Amino acid sequence: MRVQSMCNTDTRDVTATVKQILALEKAGCEIARVAVPDMIAAKAVGKIKKKIHIPLVVDIHFDYKLALECVAQGADKIRINPGNIGSREKVEAVVKACKAKKIPIRIGINVGSLEKDLQEKYGPTPKAAVESALRHVRILEKLNFHDILISIKFSDVPQMVEGYRLLAKKVNYPLHLGVTEAGTSYVGIIKSTLGIGILLNEGIGATIRVSLTADPVEEIRPGFEILKALKLRKYGPEMMSCPTCGRTEINLIGLAGKVEKALEGIDKPIKVAVMGCVVNGPGEAREADIGVAGGKKMGAIFVKGKVIKSVTEDKILPELLKEIKKIIK
Ligand code: SF4
Repeated sequence: MRVQSMCNTDTRDVTATVKQILALEKAGCEIARVAVPDMIAAKAVGKIKKKIHIPLVVDIHFDYKLALECVAQGADKIRINPGNIGSREKVEAVVKACKAKKIPIRIGINVGSLEKDLQEKYGPTPKAAVESALRHVRILEKLNFHDILISIKFSDVPQMVEGYRLLAKKVNYPLHLGVTEAGTSYVGIIKSTLGIGILLNEGIGATIRVSLTADPVEEIRPGFEILKALKLRKYGPEMMSCPTCGRTEINLIGLAGKVEKALEGIDKPIKVAVMGCVVNGPGEAREADIGVAGGKKMGAIFVKGKVIKSVTEDKILPELLKEIKKIIK
């Protein structure tokens, strides 16, 4: 299960694109995609590749020459729909180049831009998107090319879920999941979590992208949080914190924010709990490696459910971090 994102820089601007991919890498991104709209962008791929450390997917529409150039430049995956390339010779040329370098092709269907006949027959529906994807798949299979990934994108969550379920019944190829045009951070994360999460929970999906109208770096953390919440990946610390209630006697909301911030630099999969009271806290957070449970202007630090010390409210954060360091070293 891999977390992807897509650059929003001009791919022809190598410096800006590399800078963004390095920032994505730092955030944990495992696959980056760039748009390749013209030959200058295609020729930039090699220069970008030299300076980054994660696989690079190139996104191409229609022009097979761009695909060939990107393969020559060392792209790791080509996203192109073979049915849109044109003549059989052109498709064959792309397939041959990808085969020679063992590069997969990702078929990417967007329900907003389906073939006219499918639109007329089914409308913009999951069935139409799946049928469209299968048409492209068949073109590649006829050329004995099977290194395929597929995505079918919808901005509507129930349609997206239905589409991927249908597709998963028809093919065994790895599927790339995402809700497209999901929106700005708040709504986008909710829609993506639902769409991607439902499918992952059913065993559908190999790579995921949380698409947001935001800096792509913001897409990475939610991606990992989805995988962590479903227990599909361990990645960095996992924090649990209670919602607070009438029993809370410390500034738990402030403390939880500070602990979350302090955990950002840690990459070990440690479970940390920030709980409001001693009555329920350690019990509710019994699967945590370490945690704190608030009391009357104080906090009890506990390890695996057992209280190891009690400190005044102002000492909770430093003491907790000290104990976390001991555990992860
Ligand atoms: S852990 Fe304690 S303070 Fe927090 S919500 Fe539960 S009962 Fe309330």
